[in-house]
Amino acid sequence: MAEVKQYRHLFFDLDHTLWDFHTNSNLALSQLFVKYGLEERLKVSEEAFRATYLQVNNALWAQYREGSVDKITLRKERFKQALAAYDVEDENLGVTLDREYLEISPYQTALVPYALEVLDYLAPRYDLHILTNGFTEIQDVKLSRGGLKPYFKYIITSESIGVNKPHAPIFSEALRRTGALQGESLMIGDNLEADIIGARNSGIDQVYFNPEGEPHREEVTFEIQSLKELLKLL
Ligand SMILES: [Mg+2]
Repeated sequence: MAEVKQYRHLFFDLDHTLWDFHTNSNLALSQLFVKYGLEERLKVSEEAFRATYLQVNNALWAQYREGSVDKITLRKERFKQALAAYDVEDENLGVTLDREYLEISPYQTALVPYALEVLDYLAPRYDLHILTNGFTEIQDVKLSRGGLKPYFKYIITSESIGVNKPHAPIFSEALRRTGALQGESLMIGDNLEADIIGARNSGIDQVYFNPEGEPHREEVTFEIQSLKELLKLL
């Protein structure tokens, strides 16, 4: 394991790193599944529909990160494609589901285990910032409702910068906005490509939060399976 430098600025990813995206997404999808009678309409179980939606959504987000799909297309397509998987071609329903999903999911408040405990420990010791691929308005609701907002000095979204992680300009702009130097900064995130390789290519040390212990061949500065490990590391 690498030696722990004297870090001053910690950049946290939000989704799946602090905010339990998976649980919160499921909570929102369950509400919509019931509200719109999808079991009857699609002849599918809630669990199977959620799995289909997640698959479609993940594929679109991967395209979004590559820059081959824009925000409007992502929003228009994800429920439409999930419905189409059950032979329901209903663009209006797709649009309605997407709008309501976006409205209700950020209000769900499940956090990744130990998130608050770790932030309580780190906040007096470091400057904490959020560096997230996401839409400013939505990420702000998650941070506020989840009780995370007071811990962070700067909240930087890809939307506010116009470039997503892993692309270099988002990291250089994050350093510029926060007044941080590369050598005193640490990026903590769950996405190997966006967070970890992105930060590494920008000369920033990284903590790869890998709760499932997914195998990989990348050289990372630190790797943890639980946020709790940050209490010892930092
Ligand atoms: Mg993430």
